[in-house]
Amino acid sequence: METPLSEELINELNEIIKLPREEQSLRLKEFFKKLTPEQIEYLKQFQTQQCVFCGITLGKINSYKIYEDTELIAVLDINPASLGHVLVIPKMHLKYSYEFSNKIFEISNLIAKRIKEVFDYDTNIFIANGVNAGQKFEHLVINIIPRYSGDNLNLAWQPKPTSEKELNELVSKLKFEIKKEEVRKIETREPKKIIRLP
Ligand SMILES: [Zn+2]
Repeated sequence: METPLSEELINELNEIIKLPREEQSLRLKEFFKKLTPEQIEYLKQFQTQQCVFCGITLGKINSYKIYEDTELIAVLDINPASLGHVLVIPKMHLKYSYEFSNKIFEISNLIAKRIKEVFDYDTNIFIANGVNAGQKFEHLVINIIPRYSGDNLNLAWQPKPTSEKELNELVSKLKFEIKKEEVRKIETREPKKIIRLP
């Protein structure tokens, strides 16, 4: 599909994508006012297929890399929750951590350990598995968030009361054992095809 956008507009959009969420939506409103209906239609289609994290892993978006191998990349979050916030991103466009090998957890552990060794910071390791868990681009990312005294970060939630009956029902539904023959082999999958601006 030919892009109906000028190079100037593409550059502006690439700058907007890098902005923090609130600023981004304000700038996007202004940006859309300048476009023709044809350009808006193109972008709507594009937006549903575009993924910032694929942009990072492909090097189309500049990043501050601290680790890279053939399957994943670890970069500094440019809008960190705390100083030294790292994102571990699979190069495949996968949504769930269980679609990837456990290597992603091993690398995350190494990064948490490194943060401890270098800065003596503790860490929260946070994963959003799916859109309802907070994913913006349906692309798995593991957040390694350094924690230190005075970081002003609040990851607390409101605990909800639950009954013994509910707890027993949940155990009966969720309880499991791992049998040898059930250990699933993690397949190597091809990333989903994503259309990108040239
Ligand atoms: Zn992606």
